[in-house]
Amino acid sequence: MSLRARLILGYSILLAGILFLFGGSLYVILHFTLTLQTDQALEETADYFLKSTTVRTVEDLRYLTLPPLPFPASNTYFQVWSADGRLITASPNLQSVNEPLDPQALDTMQERFSGNMIRGLRMRVITRTIQVEGTYIGLLEIGTPMTVADRALSILLLVLGVGGASALALSVLIGNWIAYGALQPIDAVTTTAVQITHADDLSRRIPLEAPPTSEVGRLILTFNETLERLEGLFSSQSRFLADVSHELRTPLTSIRGNIDLIRRIGPDAESLDAVQSEVDRMTRLVGDLLMLSRAEAGTLPLAKSPVEMDTLLLEVLQQAILLAQGKVEIGVGNLEQAVTIGDRDRLKQLLLNLVVNALQYTQPGGRVLLSLRVVDDCLHITVSDNGPGIPPQELPHIFDRFYRVEKSRSRSPHGGSGLGLSIAQWIAHSHDGRIEVASEPGKGTTFSVWLPQQKQSEQE
Ligand code: ADP
Repeated sequence: MSLRARLILGYSILLAGILFLFGGSLYVILHFTLTLQTDQALEETADYFLKSTTVRTVEDLRYLTLPPLPFPASNTYFQVWSADGRLITASPNLQSVNEPLDPQALDTMQERFSGNMIRGLRMRVITRTIQVEGTYIGLLEIGTPMTVADRALSILLLVLGVGGASALALSVLIGNWIAYGALQPIDAVTTTAVQITHADDLSRRIPLEAPPTSEVGRLILTFNETLERLEGLFSSQSRFLADVSHELRTPLTSIRGNIDLIRRIGPDAESLDAVQSEVDRMTRLVGDLLMLSRAEAGTLPLAKSPVEMDTLLLEVLQQAILLAQGKVEIGVGNLEQAVTIGDRDRLKQLLLNLVVNALQYTQPGGRVLLSLRVVDDCLHITVSDNGPGIPPQELPHIFDRFYRVEKSRSRSPHGGSGLGLSIAQWIAHSHDGRIEVASEPGKGTTFSVWLPQQKQSEQE
Protein backbone atom coordinates (compact mmCIF):
# COMPACT_ATOMS: atom_id res chain seq x y z
CA MET A 1 0.00 0.00 0.00
CA SER A 2 1.37 3.43 -0.93
CA LEU A 3 2.33 5.96 1.73
CA ARG A 4 -0.44 8.28 0.51
CA ALA A 5 -3.10 5.54 0.82
CA ARG A 6 -1.84 4.62 4.27
CA LEU A 7 -1.91 8.24 5.41
CA ILE A 8 -5.46 8.76 4.16
CA LEU A 9 -6.69 5.46 5.57
CA GLY A 10 -5.20 6.11 9.00
CA TYR A 11 -6.51 9.65 9.05
CA SER A 12 -10.01 8.59 7.92
CA ILE A 13 -10.25 5.80 10.50
CA LEU A 14 -9.27 8.29 13.19
CA LEU A 15 -11.82 10.85 11.99
CA ALA A 16 -14.58 8.21 11.72
CA GLY A 17 -13.79 7.07 15.28
CA ILE A 18 -13.97 10.64 16.60
CA LEU A 19 -17.24 11.34 14.74
CA PHE A 20 -18.75 8.09 16.00
CA LEU A 21 -17.81 8.82 19.61
CA PHE A 22 -19.04 12.41 19.37
CA GLY A 23 -22.32 11.47 17.62
CA GLY A 24 -22.94 8.52 19.94
CA SER A 25 -22.44 10.67 23.06
CA LEU A 26 -24.73 13.37 21.67
CA TYR A 27 -27.44 10.79 20.93
CA VAL A 28 -27.21 9.16 24.37
CA ILE A 29 -27.24 12.54 26.17
CA LEU A 30 -30.29 13.76 24.21
CA HIS A 31 -32.13 10.45 24.76
CA PHE A 32 -31.41 10.58 28.48
CA THR A 33 -32.44 14.25 28.81
CA LEU A 34 -35.71 13.78 26.90
CA THR A 35 -36.62 10.73 29.01
CA LEU A 36 -35.78 12.60 32.21
CA GLN A 37 -37.97 15.55 31.19
CA THR A 38 -40.88 13.27 30.34
CA ASP A 39 -40.50 11.42 33.65
CA GLN A 40 -40.56 14.72 35.56
CA ALA A 41 -43.73 15.83 33.78
CA LEU A 42 -45.37 12.43 34.44
CA GLU A 43 -44.40 12.60 38.11
CA GLU A 44 -45.89 16.09 38.48
CA THR A 45 -49.13 14.94 36.83
CA ALA A 46 -49.29 11.84 39.06
CA ASP A 47 -48.71 13.95 42.20
CA TYR A 48 -51.46 16.37 41.20
CA PHE A 49 -53.79 13.49 40.34
CA LEU A 50 -53.25 11.67 43.64
CA LYS A 51 -53.57 14.88 45.66
CA SER A 52 -56.90 15.65 44.01
CA THR A 53 -58.26 12.12 44.61
CA THR A 54 -60.49 11.62 47.68
CA VAL A 55 -61.71 8.42 49.29
CA ARG A 56 -64.95 8.19 51.22
CA THR A 57 -65.62 5.12 53.39
CA VAL A 58 -69.20 4.11 54.04
CA GLU A 59 -69.27 0.98 56.30
CA ASP A 60 -67.20 -1.57 54.29
CA LEU A 61 -67.42 0.34 51.04
CA ARG A 62 -64.92 2.94 49.81
CA TYR A 63 -65.89 5.58 47.32
CA LEU A 64 -63.10 7.05 45.21
CA THR A 65 -63.63 10.52 43.82
CA LEU A 66 -61.18 11.14 40.99
CA PRO A 67 -60.34 14.50 39.47
CA PRO A 68 -61.72 15.03 35.94
CA LEU A 69 -59.77 12.99 33.39
CA PRO A 70 -58.34 14.73 30.29
CA PHE A 71 -60.45 15.17 27.18
CA PRO A 72 -60.01 12.68 24.30
CA ALA A 73 -57.48 14.69 22.31
CA SER A 74 -55.07 14.96 25.23
CA ASN A 75 -51.63 13.45 24.93
CA THR A 76 -51.67 11.94 28.44
CA TYR A 77 -53.33 8.63 29.16
CA PHE A 78 -54.70 7.60 32.57
CA GLN A 79 -55.74 4.24 33.97
CA VAL A 80 -56.92 3.45 37.51
CA TRP A 81 -56.75 -0.19 38.49
CA SER A 82 -58.19 -1.85 41.59
CA ALA A 83 -55.94 -3.86 43.91
CA ASP A 84 -57.41 -7.11 42.48
CA GLY A 85 -56.47 -6.08 38.93
CA ARG A 86 -59.72 -4.65 37.52
CA LEU A 87 -59.73 -1.53 35.37
CA ILE A 88 -61.78 0.96 37.38
CA THR A 89 -61.56 3.85 34.95
CA ALA A 90 -59.48 5.16 32.06
CA SER A 91 -59.18 8.47 30.26
CA PRO A 92 -61.42 8.72 27.23
CA ASN A 93 -58.47 9.16 24.86
CA LEU A 94 -57.50 5.50 25.56
CA GLN A 95 -60.79 4.42 23.91
CA SER A 96 -60.74 0.64 23.52
CA VAL A 97 -57.38 0.00 25.19
CA ASN A 98 -58.18 -2.38 28.05
CA GLU A 99 -54.70 -3.77 28.76
CA PRO A 100 -52.60 -2.05 31.44
CA LEU A 101 -50.12 0.63 30.28
CA ASP A 102 -47.45 -1.18 32.35
CA PRO A 103 -48.57 -4.80 32.91
CA GLN A 104 -45.53 -5.73 34.95
CA ALA A 105 -46.08 -2.95 37.48
CA LEU A 106 -49.71 -4.03 37.82
CA ASP A 107 -48.64 -7.61 38.59
CA THR A 108 -46.15 -6.53 41.25
CA MET A 109 -48.00 -3.44 42.54
CA GLN A 110 -44.73 -1.60 42.12
CA GLU A 111 -44.18 2.14 41.79
CA ARG A 112 -41.92 2.79 38.82
CA PHE A 113 -41.19 4.42 35.45
CA SER A 114 -41.11 2.24 32.37
CA GLY A 115 -41.08 2.38 28.61
CA ASN A 116 -43.67 0.22 26.81
CA MET A 117 -45.07 -0.27 23.33
CA ILE A 118 -48.81 0.29 23.30
CA ARG A 119 -50.48 -0.38 19.95
CA GLY A 120 -47.31 0.51 18.05
CA LEU A 121 -46.66 3.65 20.09
CA ARG A 122 -43.61 3.93 22.34
CA MET A 123 -44.87 5.20 25.69
CA ARG A 124 -43.29 6.37 28.89
CA VAL A 125 -45.42 5.21 31.83
CA ILE A 126 -45.43 6.10 35.52
CA THR A 127 -47.10 3.74 37.99
CA ARG A 128 -48.14 4.96 41.43
CA THR A 129 -50.11 3.15 44.14
CA ILE A 130 -53.34 4.56 45.68
CA GLN A 131 -53.33 3.91 49.43
CA VAL A 132 -55.78 4.54 52.24
CA GLU A 133 -54.43 4.32 55.78
CA GLY A 134 -51.51 2.20 54.65
CA THR A 135 -53.61 -0.23 52.57
CA TYR A 136 -53.23 -0.51 48.78
CA ILE A 137 -56.56 0.02 47.23
CA GLY A 138 -55.50 0.60 43.66
CA LEU A 139 -52.93 1.59 41.08
CA LEU A 140 -52.63 4.69 38.94
CA GLU A 141 -50.87 4.39 35.56
CA ILE A 142 -50.21 7.49 33.52
CA GLY A 143 -48.57 7.24 30.10
CA THR A 144 -47.42 9.67 27.51
CA PRO A 145 -46.21 8.81 24.00
CA MET A 146 -42.59 9.52 23.17
CA THR A 147 -43.40 10.46 19.57
CA VAL A 148 -41.86 13.95 19.70
CA ALA A 149 -38.74 12.76 21.50
CA ASP A 150 -38.38 9.84 19.10
CA ARG A 151 -38.76 12.17 16.11
CA ALA A 152 -36.09 14.49 17.56
CA LEU A 153 -33.79 11.52 18.09
CA SER A 154 -34.38 10.20 14.56
CA ILE A 155 -33.65 13.64 13.09
CA LEU A 156 -30.46 13.83 15.16
CA LEU A 157 -29.50 10.35 13.96
CA LEU A 158 -30.12 11.38 10.37
CA VAL A 159 -28.12 14.60 10.75
CA LEU A 160 -25.29 12.74 12.43
CA GLY A 161 -25.27 9.99 9.81
CA VAL A 162 -25.46 12.22 6.75
CA GLY A 163 -23.24 14.93 8.27
CA GLY A 164 -20.66 12.42 9.49
CA ALA A 165 -20.55 10.59 6.15
CA SER A 166 -20.22 13.88 4.22
CA ALA A 167 -17.54 15.15 6.62
CA LEU A 168 -15.67 11.88 6.20
CA ALA A 169 -15.93 11.98 2.41
CA LEU A 170 -14.85 15.64 2.33
CA SER A 171 -11.91 14.98 4.65
CA VAL A 172 -10.79 12.04 2.48
CA LEU A 173 -10.91 14.30 -0.58
CA ILE A 174 -9.05 17.16 1.11
CA GLY A 175 -6.60 14.75 2.80
CA ASN A 176 -5.90 13.13 -0.55
CA TRP A 177 -5.26 16.53 -2.09
CA ILE A 178 -2.95 17.63 0.77
CA ALA A 179 -1.10 14.29 0.76
CA TYR A 180 -0.68 14.50 -3.00
CA GLY A 181 0.79 18.02 -2.69
CA ALA A 182 3.12 16.96 0.13
CA LEU A 183 4.28 13.71 -1.44
CA GLN A 184 4.47 14.80 -5.05
CA PRO A 185 8.03 16.24 -4.63
CA ILE A 186 9.11 12.89 -3.17
CA ASP A 187 7.70 11.19 -6.26
CA ALA A 188 9.73 13.64 -8.36
CA VAL A 189 12.86 12.75 -6.35
CA THR A 190 12.22 9.04 -6.92
CA THR A 191 11.60 9.53 -10.64
CA THR A 192 14.82 11.50 -11.05
CA ALA A 193 16.74 8.95 -8.98
CA VAL A 194 15.43 6.16 -11.23
CA GLN A 195 16.36 8.15 -14.35
CA ILE A 196 19.86 8.73 -12.96
CA THR A 197 20.24 5.01 -12.28
CA HIS A 198 18.97 4.06 -15.75
CA ALA A 199 21.04 6.63 -17.57
CA ASP A 200 24.13 6.00 -15.39
CA ASP A 201 24.53 9.76 -15.31
CA LEU A 202 25.80 11.03 -11.97
CA SER A 203 26.10 14.59 -13.24
CA ARG A 204 22.32 15.08 -13.08
CA ARG A 205 20.78 16.83 -10.06
CA ILE A 206 17.24 16.92 -8.70
CA PRO A 207 15.71 20.40 -9.16
CA LEU A 208 14.99 22.04 -5.82
CA GLU A 209 11.28 22.74 -6.12
CA ALA A 210 10.54 22.86 -2.38
CA PRO A 211 11.73 25.36 0.25
CA PRO A 212 15.30 24.34 1.25
CA THR A 213 14.36 24.15 4.93
CA SER A 214 11.35 21.88 4.41
CA GLU A 215 11.65 18.11 4.87
CA VAL A 216 11.48 17.49 1.13
CA GLY A 217 13.87 20.39 0.43
CA ARG A 218 16.41 18.91 2.83
CA LEU A 219 15.94 15.47 1.27
CA ILE A 220 16.66 16.90 -2.19
CA LEU A 221 19.70 18.84 -0.93
CA THR A 222 21.10 15.77 0.84
CA PHE A 223 20.44 13.58 -2.19
CA ASN A 224 22.16 16.08 -4.49
CA GLU A 225 25.09 16.31 -2.09
CA THR A 226 25.40 12.51 -2.10
CA LEU A 227 25.28 12.52 -5.90
CA GLU A 228 28.00 15.17 -6.00
CA ARG A 229 30.24 13.17 -3.69
CA LEU A 230 29.60 9.98 -5.67
CA GLU A 231 30.36 11.78 -8.90
CA GLY A 232 33.60 13.13 -7.42
CA LEU A 233 34.51 9.70 -6.15
CA PHE A 234 33.79 7.97 -9.45
CA SER A 235 35.61 10.53 -11.54
CA SER A 236 38.64 10.48 -9.23
CA GLN A 237 38.62 6.69 -9.38
CA SER A 238 38.49 6.60 -13.15
CA ARG A 239 41.15 9.33 -13.31
CA PHE A 240 43.26 7.28 -10.94
CA LEU A 241 42.82 4.14 -13.05
CA ALA A 242 43.72 6.06 -16.20
CA ASP A 243 46.80 7.53 -14.47
CA VAL A 244 47.94 4.13 -13.20
CA SER A 245 47.48 2.56 -16.65
CA HIS A 246 49.36 5.43 -18.22
CA GLU A 247 52.20 5.20 -15.68
CA LEU A 248 52.54 1.46 -16.25
CA ARG A 249 52.23 1.63 -20.03
CA THR A 250 55.20 3.96 -20.45
CA PRO A 251 57.83 1.72 -18.77
CA LEU A 252 56.29 -1.37 -20.36
CA THR A 253 56.59 0.18 -23.83
CA SER A 254 60.19 1.08 -23.09
CA ILE A 255 60.96 -2.47 -21.83
CA ARG A 256 59.32 -3.96 -24.93
CA GLY A 257 61.38 -1.71 -27.23
CA ASN A 258 64.60 -2.67 -25.48
CA ILE A 259 63.75 -6.40 -25.60
CA ASP A 260 63.07 -6.10 -29.36
CA LEU A 261 66.46 -4.44 -29.73
CA ILE A 262 68.17 -7.16 -27.67
CA ARG A 263 66.47 -9.82 -29.87
CA ARG A 264 67.75 -8.18 -33.02
CA ILE A 265 71.31 -7.21 -32.10
CA GLY A 266 71.93 -9.27 -28.97
CA PRO A 267 72.16 -8.06 -25.37
CA ASP A 268 74.05 -4.83 -24.86
CA ALA A 269 74.72 -3.03 -21.56
CA GLU A 270 72.73 0.06 -22.48
CA SER A 271 69.51 -1.81 -23.30
CA LEU A 272 69.82 -3.98 -20.22
CA ASP A 273 70.36 -0.86 -18.05
CA ALA A 274 67.27 0.74 -19.58
CA VAL A 275 65.19 -2.37 -18.86
CA GLN A 276 66.57 -2.48 -15.33
CA SER A 277 65.75 1.21 -14.78
CA GLU A 278 62.16 0.80 -16.04
CA VAL A 279 61.65 -2.28 -13.87
CA ASP A 280 62.95 -0.26 -10.90
CA ARG A 281 60.55 2.55 -11.74
CA MET A 282 57.60 0.13 -11.91
CA THR A 283 58.63 -1.49 -8.64
CA ARG A 284 58.74 1.94 -6.98
CA LEU A 285 55.40 2.88 -8.48
CA VAL A 286 53.68 -0.31 -7.35
CA GLY A 287 55.24 0.04 -3.87
CA ASP A 288 54.05 3.65 -3.58
CA LEU A 289 50.58 2.77 -4.82
CA LEU A 290 50.29 -0.05 -2.36
CA MET A 291 51.35 2.21 0.46
CA LEU A 292 48.91 4.97 -0.50
CA SER A 293 45.99 2.60 -0.88
CA ARG A 294 46.74 1.02 2.51
CA ALA A 295 47.10 4.49 4.01
CA GLU A 296 43.75 5.58 2.60
CA ALA A 297 42.08 2.37 3.72
CA GLY A 298 43.48 3.02 7.20
CA THR A 299 45.31 -0.31 7.31
CA LEU A 300 48.83 1.11 7.28
CA PRO A 301 50.11 0.71 10.82
CA LEU A 302 52.05 3.60 12.39
CA ALA A 303 54.45 2.62 15.16
CA LYS A 304 54.50 5.89 17.07
CA SER A 305 57.18 6.69 19.63
CA PRO A 306 59.29 9.76 20.50
CA VAL A 307 61.55 10.61 17.55
CA GLU A 308 64.54 12.99 17.80
CA MET A 309 63.99 14.90 14.63
CA ASP A 310 67.41 16.61 14.62
CA THR A 311 69.12 13.18 14.57
CA LEU A 312 66.72 11.98 11.87
CA LEU A 313 67.45 15.08 9.78
CA LEU A 314 71.21 14.37 10.00
CA GLU A 315 70.59 10.80 8.78
CA VAL A 316 68.59 12.16 5.84
CA LEU A 317 71.38 14.66 5.17
CA GLN A 318 73.96 11.85 4.92
CA GLN A 319 71.77 9.91 2.54
CA ALA A 320 71.22 13.06 0.50
CA ILE A 321 74.98 13.67 0.23
CA LEU A 322 75.39 10.15 -1.19
CA LEU A 323 72.50 10.66 -3.63
CA ALA A 324 73.78 14.06 -4.77
CA GLN A 325 77.11 12.50 -5.87
CA GLY A 326 78.70 15.91 -5.46
CA LYS A 327 76.62 17.48 -8.19
CA VAL A 328 74.50 19.53 -5.79
CA GLU A 329 75.75 21.25 -2.67
CA ILE A 330 73.88 20.23 0.49
CA GLY A 331 73.88 22.25 3.68
CA VAL A 332 72.17 22.56 7.06
CA GLY A 333 70.84 25.85 8.39
CA ASN A 334 69.31 25.90 11.90
CA LEU A 335 69.36 22.56 13.63
CA GLU A 336 67.58 22.78 16.98
CA GLN A 337 67.06 19.74 19.17
CA ALA A 338 63.44 18.69 19.03
CA VAL A 339 61.36 15.59 19.63
CA THR A 340 58.05 14.63 18.09
CA ILE A 341 55.84 11.59 18.53
CA GLY A 342 55.65 9.56 15.37
CA ASP A 343 56.63 6.63 13.23
CA ARG A 344 60.38 7.08 12.65
CA ASP A 345 60.49 5.23 9.32
CA ARG A 346 57.54 7.15 7.90
CA LEU A 347 58.92 10.51 9.05
CA LYS A 348 62.23 9.64 7.40
CA GLN A 349 60.37 8.72 4.22
CA LEU A 350 58.62 12.12 4.31
CA LEU A 351 61.91 14.02 4.58
CA LEU A 352 63.62 11.80 1.98
CA ASN A 353 60.80 12.38 -0.53
CA LEU A 354 61.28 16.14 -0.17
CA VAL A 355 65.10 15.95 -0.30
CA VAL A 356 65.09 13.58 -3.30
CA ASN A 357 62.74 15.98 -5.13
CA ALA A 358 65.01 18.93 -4.29
CA LEU A 359 68.08 17.05 -5.58
CA GLN A 360 66.24 15.78 -8.62
CA TYR A 361 64.87 19.11 -9.76
CA THR A 362 67.94 21.22 -8.93
CA GLN A 363 70.45 21.65 -11.70
CA PRO A 364 74.10 20.57 -11.07
CA GLY A 365 75.90 23.23 -9.09
CA GLY A 366 72.70 24.11 -7.28
CA ARG A 367 72.15 24.14 -3.54
CA VAL A 368 69.83 22.32 -1.15
CA LEU A 369 69.41 23.51 2.45
CA LEU A 370 67.81 21.63 5.35
CA SER A 371 66.81 23.26 8.63
CA LEU A 372 64.91 22.49 11.83
CA ARG A 373 63.54 25.08 14.22
CA VAL A 374 61.00 25.04 17.02
CA VAL A 375 58.24 27.63 16.63
CA ASP A 376 55.41 27.83 19.18
CA ASP A 377 55.48 24.16 20.26
CA CYS A 378 55.81 23.09 16.64
CA LEU A 379 58.73 21.64 14.73
CA HIS A 380 59.33 23.60 11.56
CA ILE A 381 61.44 21.61 9.09
CA THR A 382 62.34 23.17 5.76
CA VAL A 383 63.87 21.72 2.61
CA SER A 384 64.88 24.55 0.26
CA ASP A 385 66.55 24.49 -3.10
CA ASN A 386 67.53 27.03 -5.71
CA GLY A 387 66.17 24.89 -8.54
CA PRO A 388 63.73 25.90 -11.28
CA GLY A 389 60.83 26.51 -8.90
CA ILE A 390 57.18 25.70 -9.55
CA PRO A 391 54.81 28.03 -11.45
CA PRO A 392 52.20 29.52 -9.07
CA GLN A 393 49.27 28.03 -11.01
CA GLU A 394 50.75 24.53 -10.50
CA LEU A 395 51.30 24.89 -6.75
CA PRO A 396 47.75 23.89 -5.66
CA HIS A 397 48.04 20.59 -7.57
CA ILE A 398 51.50 19.29 -6.76
CA PHE A 399 50.24 17.19 -3.84
CA ASP A 400 47.73 15.41 -6.11
CA ARG A 401 48.47 11.85 -7.08
CA PHE A 402 50.44 11.46 -10.30
CA TYR A 403 50.67 15.22 -10.72
CA ARG A 404 53.82 16.45 -12.40
CA VAL A 405 54.59 20.01 -13.36
CA GLU A 406 56.43 19.05 -16.49
CA LYS A 407 55.55 15.65 -17.75
CA SER A 408 59.05 15.29 -19.21
CA ARG A 409 60.66 15.69 -15.77
CA SER A 410 59.52 12.24 -14.76
CA ARG A 411 61.24 10.70 -17.67
CA SER A 412 64.66 11.39 -16.18
CA PRO A 413 66.46 8.28 -14.95
CA HIS A 414 65.44 9.03 -11.38
CA GLY A 415 61.98 10.27 -12.35
CA GLY A 416 59.49 9.63 -9.59
CA SER A 417 56.08 8.11 -9.89
CA GLY A 418 54.32 11.40 -9.18
CA LEU A 419 53.20 10.01 -5.83
CA GLY A 420 56.09 11.29 -3.63
CA LEU A 421 54.35 14.45 -2.44
CA SER A 422 50.98 12.71 -1.94
CA ILE A 423 52.72 10.21 0.34
CA ALA A 424 54.61 13.01 2.14
CA GLN A 425 51.38 14.88 2.73
CA TRP A 426 49.60 11.79 4.04
CA ILE A 427 52.49 11.14 6.48
CA ALA A 428 52.39 14.76 7.74
CA HIS A 429 48.60 14.62 8.21
CA SER A 430 48.72 11.28 9.99
CA HIS A 431 51.16 12.87 12.47
CA ASP A 432 48.75 15.79 13.11
CA GLY A 433 51.04 17.99 11.05
CA ARG A 434 50.90 19.72 7.71
CA ILE A 435 53.08 20.40 4.73
CA GLU A 436 53.35 23.69 2.82
CA VAL A 437 55.18 24.85 -0.25
CA ALA A 438 56.53 28.24 -1.32
CA SER A 439 58.13 28.60 -4.71
CA GLU A 440 59.30 31.23 -7.13
CA PRO A 441 60.00 30.16 -10.69
CA GLY A 442 63.68 30.57 -11.50
CA LYS A 443 64.66 31.12 -7.86
CA GLY A 444 63.80 27.90 -6.04
CA THR A 445 61.36 26.06 -3.86
CA THR A 446 60.92 25.65 -0.10
CA PHE A 447 58.87 22.84 1.41
CA SER A 448 57.89 23.36 5.08
CA VAL A 449 56.79 20.54 7.33
CA TRP A 450 55.05 21.39 10.61
CA LEU A 451 54.86 18.71 13.28
CA PRO A 452 53.69 18.92 16.88
CA GLN A 453 56.55 19.01 19.39
CA GLN A 454 56.60 16.53 22.25
CA LYS A 455 56.59 18.77 25.33
CA GLN A 456 59.32 18.61 27.95
CA SER A 457 56.81 17.43 30.57
CA GLU A 458 55.70 14.55 28.31
CA GLN A 459 59.30 13.45 27.77
CA GLU A 460 60.01 12.92 31.48
P1 ADP B 1 57.64 13.00 -8.54
O1 ADP B 1 57.72 11.59 -8.16
O2 ADP B 1 57.34 13.22 -9.97
O3 ADP B 1 58.73 13.82 -8.01
P2 ADP B 1 56.12 14.28 -6.54
O4 ADP B 1 54.75 14.03 -6.06
O5 ADP B 1 57.22 14.05 -5.58
O6 ADP B 1 56.30 13.47 -7.85
O7 ADP B 1 56.18 15.77 -7.05
C1 ADP B 1 55.18 16.27 -7.88
C2 ADP B 1 55.71 17.33 -8.81
O8 ADP B 1 56.05 18.50 -8.08
C3 ADP B 1 56.96 16.92 -9.47
O9 ADP B 1 56.73 16.19 -10.64
C4 ADP B 1 57.62 18.25 -9.79
O10 ADP B 1 57.10 18.73 -11.01
C5 ADP B 1 57.14 19.15 -8.68
N1 ADP B 1 58.20 19.31 -7.66
C6 ADP B 1 58.30 18.65 -6.49
N2 ADP B 1 59.36 19.10 -5.76
C7 ADP B 1 59.97 20.06 -6.53
C8 ADP B 1 61.09 20.92 -6.34
N3 ADP B 1 61.86 20.85 -5.22
N4 ADP B 1 61.39 21.80 -7.30
C9 ADP B 1 60.63 21.89 -8.41
N5 ADP B 1 59.53 21.13 -8.67
C10 ADP B 1 59.21 20.23 -7.73
